[in-house]
Amino acid sequence: MTGIVWVTGNCWLYCRRSGLPVMWVGTAQSVGVYAPLYAPLYACEQCLAELSAMVWQHVQRRDSSALQHQSAP
Ligand SMILES: [Zn+2]
Repeated sequence: MTGIVWVTGNCWLYCRRSGLPVMWVGTAQSVGVYAPLYAPLYACEQCLAELSAMVWQHVQRRDSSALQHQSAP
């Protein structure tokens, strides 16, 4: 992939390690007392692979569900 910028930092996903190459993957939103709170979400290569697998499974399930609806009478 091109255009990916790796920086040294903390992984916000599953491993929670620090001081390793991480990539910005989006903005995390949390519920604050008065307003939503936002923070940049970074992930390491290992956790990105796991996240990608989960996204792939989600897409396959969604596509499978769509096919079942299309074939229904
Ligand atoms: Zn990680």
